[in-house]
Amino acid sequence: MPGLYIHIPFCVRKCRYCAFHSVPYSPKLVKPYIESLQKEAEKRKEVFRVTFDTVYIGGGTPSILHTAELLEILKIINYNFNLSPQEFTIEVNPGTVDREKLTYYKSKGINRLSIGIQSLNDKELEYLGRIHTGKEAVKCFEDARYAGFENISIDLIYGIPLQDKNSWHSTLNGITVLNPEHISAYSLSYEPETPLYGEEPMKEDLEEKLYYNMIDYLKCKGYKQYEISSFAISGYESRHNINYWGGGIYLGLGASAHSYDGTYRYANPRLYDYIKGKPHEREKITAEKALEECIMLGLRKRAGISLPEISHRFGRTVAEKLINEASILGLDIDGERVLVPRDKQFVSDAIILSITSHLC
Ligand code: SF4
Repeated sequence: MPGLYIHIPFCVRKCRYCAFHSVPYSPKLVKPYIESLQKEAEKRKEVFRVTFDTVYIGGGTPSILHTAELLEILKIINYNFNLSPQEFTIEVNPGTVDREKLTYYKSKGINRLSIGIQSLNDKELEYLGRIHTGKEAVKCFEDARYAGFENISIDLIYGIPLQDKNSWHSTLNGITVLNPEHISAYSLSYEPETPLYGEEPMKEDLEEKLYYNMIDYLKCKGYKQYEISSFAISGYESRHNINYWGGGIYLGLGASAHSYDGTYRYANPRLYDYIKGKPHEREKITAEKALEECIMLGLRKRAGISLPEISHRFGRTVAEKLINEASILGLDIDGERVLVPRDKQFVSDAIILSITSHLC
């Protein structure tokens, strides 16, 4: 299920928590950026001679592009690659789209939106430095439905210091009333070199409560958790992400984008170097690295890791070591699979680190 990703590194302005590589939108930058995408696509099409089942335009804020700019990008990928996307997603931020733009997306074959709502509470949105209010976020969702989108994902953030159980519940309630097909919820992180770095985070025990409250609440509303941060109505799980998590092939075009061809991982340079034509870096994925990624991504999935697959790819000894480490850490070993039990999901990063440091 190869996936094609196109990175759009432009935003209205920087959110206070954002450590992603993005710069303020400027038509003067977009033009050479699209020219660089064109050059990269021409080079990469020789290596990635596959049919792409999913396409994902992410950022940054892809919805900040004018439709004529987006059209240029769509022409580039359609001309250079074999696309047969079951799922074609674009990331959208409230405050950068209207019904007309959303209808245009639909007319171009985009069939899934990922809307960065983050919260419906205006004080929390202000704390995060978002450009929209809760009301504008809801309007964006309604406009997307009006435009005909039947597969919409919403991104949320928990662990915002101003948040409490009531405000989180109020956001979850306001979101589920809209009936999106998919919800992703991430814990607020305080990355170096962001304005938030150094501020007092939410107390961990409260953040943990918010996380488990969300799992229970979304389950009641019909959302199945299929990954630590991802919830979907059955049949609407993100195919594009499932391909990443399953170690599938993907091509990432654009500044800072990554690709994987089954042997090598490629990392593109940041925006200004990308426009100057600096080539990507390449790293061979050794068996050790592949095992580390398999454990890291596998344990994030609710379905966990397949032991026969580990045995087949890395040998029986590795599978036995994994079972041993998993039982020491109290993971569920369910016949043929190893998975993080519900009550340990909040600390799964630490569990993953412990297992990979012993096995890889
Ligand atoms: S919109 Fe997204 S990518 Fe852009 S600054 Fe905010 S968090 Fe970062």
